[in-house]
Amino acid sequence: MACDVNYESKQHRKKRYIVFGIITIISLVLPFIRINGNHIFLLNFAEKQLNLLFTSFDMQELYLMPFILILLFLGVFFMTTLGGRVWCGWSCPQTIFRTIYRDLLQTKLLNLRRSINNKQAPTKKGMYLQKTIAIILWSILAFIAASDFIWYFVPPENYFAYLQDPANHTVFLGFLGGITAFIIYDVILLKENFCVYICPYARVQSVMFDEDTIQPIYSESRGGKIYDEHGVKLWSKPPGEYDDCTGCEACVRVCPTHIDIRKGMQLECINCLECADACVPVMGKLGKESLIQWTSANEDERGIKTKYIRFRTVAYGIALTLAFIGLMYMGSTKEHMLLNINRTSELYKIKDGGKTVENVYTFLFQNTDSKDHKYYFEVNNKDIKIVRPSKPFSLKARKKERKIVILRTTKTLIDTEKKDTPIPITIKAFATDDKDKIVVLRHTIFFYPSETVLEKYKK
Ligand code: SF4
Ligand code: SF4
Repeated sequence: MACDVNYESKQHRKKRYIVFGIITIISLVLPFIRINGNHIFLLNFAEKQLNLLFTSFDMQELYLMPFILILLFLGVFFMTTLGGRVWCGWSCPQTIFRTIYRDLLQTKLLNLRRSINNKQAPTKKGMYLQKTIAIILWSILAFIAASDFIWYFVPPENYFAYLQDPANHTVFLGFLGGITAFIIYDVILLKENFCVYICPYARVQSVMFDEDTIQPIYSESRGGKIYDEHGVKLWSKPPGEYDDCTGCEACVRVCPTHIDIRKGMQLECINCLECADACVPVMGKLGKESLIQWTSANEDERGIKTKYIRFRTVAYGIALTLAFIGLMYMGSTKEHMLLNINRTSELYKIKDGGKTVENVYTFLFQNTDSKDHKYYFEVNNKDIKIVRPSKPFSLKARKKERKIVILRTTKTLIDTEKKDTPIPITIKAFATDDKDKIVVLRHTIFFYPSETVLEKYKK
């Protein structure tokens, strides 16, 4: 039968390859983009620093992490409810790595496999040179992939410096080597067993599915029944006169996790849609659509249009929006410097025969910015003067420094006979070169002695 179906336009494979390419480029380029010295995401344990959306946070500000984790989990729940294991088939590094190694290197480049349409068949016998080349090429790519992963924890500017000084960065090299070795082992030996037996997402995702979740589904009503309700295979080609499945098993041969989608939804399915593509030319010859569609159970079995906006997706959407607003709000309240104030154990010092009272503090300043700044501070009480430090001081980017601070008054702040009085004061600390943005307020106490104590010094 003549067929006017355009197979190429019906294939998901090409679209997936484009998505793989975009994700790979983005993940490789992002660590190198810096704005004001900050990365889009960097969790730098060595320097106790978090960069998020090009803003730098200190480890003391890790209150943002719960929001990031909540966003991550809610995002996964939302995506799974809507599109099943769409992450696995379209974005997961494991799937991208296996596609590069098996389909690009082994099949297309080195001819170790006959066709990317048969992922079940083992590699050809012999051909040891090509097999070695495949392992070497993949090892190089695995090193790049491991480096890319590390760049989100060790910024590229440090990464390359560490590589040039290996003797002093053995822990870093251990991590880099370990991750590279795991990626090599995972892709060459573990293969899709990782998805089937190890990946925790595969275990939990099914509870997030509902009748409107999009997934690869074999149309039993069109193709015919192949397996009974206990999963026992009845035949390869169904015998019914109107059953369309030809029993060619192209959909089985192409499956990277070695399952038969005609048996129904299975834990092992990574949503790669290779089976749906494989059936396109087979059914195309009959002028029909693929028997395997990326659709919902409601649409396939009951003819009910898939509902994308439903209670679960709306609930996840609202929760995601709230978590995102929370993250943005917390991020916007970020202080661009940190200041901790501690008093010394001595309440006050009295000098000049009771005319001068001093309080001593320890101020811990921290420059959380990516640039060096000069810092100083003010006291909100005009009768209390700063004796020490007497002038602004410099602090390098991301460094902290302890300063002994002496505040002094020569005025009678309060006149009580018996009790020392704590007077609340506010310290306004700031970077002298960016007073509007880099500023923090801290409340503390200035102790003023009682009249009885002052009298003793006057004698
Ligand atoms: S590729 Fe299509 S026709 Fe061939 S066995 Fe699979 S479902 Fe049936
Ligand atoms: S059944 Fe196999 S080929 Fe089809 S989507 Fe699932 S993993 Fe891919």
